[in-house]
Amino acid sequence: MNLRDHIRDVPNFPKEGIVYFDITPLLADPKVFQYTIDMMAERFSEYKADKIAAAEARGFIFGAPLAYKLGIGFVPIRKPGKLPYDTISVSYDLEYGSDSLCMHVDAIAKGENVLLIDDVLATGGTAEGMVKLVEKAGGIVSGIGFLIELGFLDGAGRLKGIANSHLLKL
Ligand code: AMP
Repeated sequence: MNLRDHIRDVPNFPKEGIVYFDITPLLADPKVFQYTIDMMAERFSEYKADKIAAAEARGFIFGAPLAYKLGIGFVPIRKPGKLPYDTISVSYDLEYGSDSLCMHVDAIAKGENVLLIDDVLATGGTAEGMVKLVEKAGGIVSGIGFLIELGFLDGAGRLKGIANSHLLKL
């Protein structure tokens, strides 16, 4: 099965000059979605994680079923103001400006191994923010798994020293 055939390229979204890789065709096909989660389980189980953490919204789509499949817990990372209990937060740099991510204070115990999951590795800013957040909580990022890595942006270069891999490189 070629996952590339199930990702739609949308030119000039969300702005002129950007090609957006739309994963909704992959999600809509139950066999392809199942295959994707199975492949992630096969590839990313080497990171020997105690928990998966992923950021809203598209990280949840892959992170939660993967946690179920691997039999480990899932931690939602969210934008400010969404989580109901006490949170810790980090700011991280984006291509233009910055953003913040939050997690519940008790979501990750000190020394726990965490696998981070996201759909697309672009500049690596979001992944870097998630790493900072897990480390702030005392957790250890044992690996980062992506569905797609955009090779031309060298986001992996920004994640030096942290094991990471992907199912597709575009
Ligand atoms: P990053 O630049 O690595 O921080 O990417 C930011 C977020 O935007 C990631 O979580 C990706 O899911 C998403 N993203 C960035 N670029 C694209 C793209 N060309 N197509 C689809 N999603 C993207």
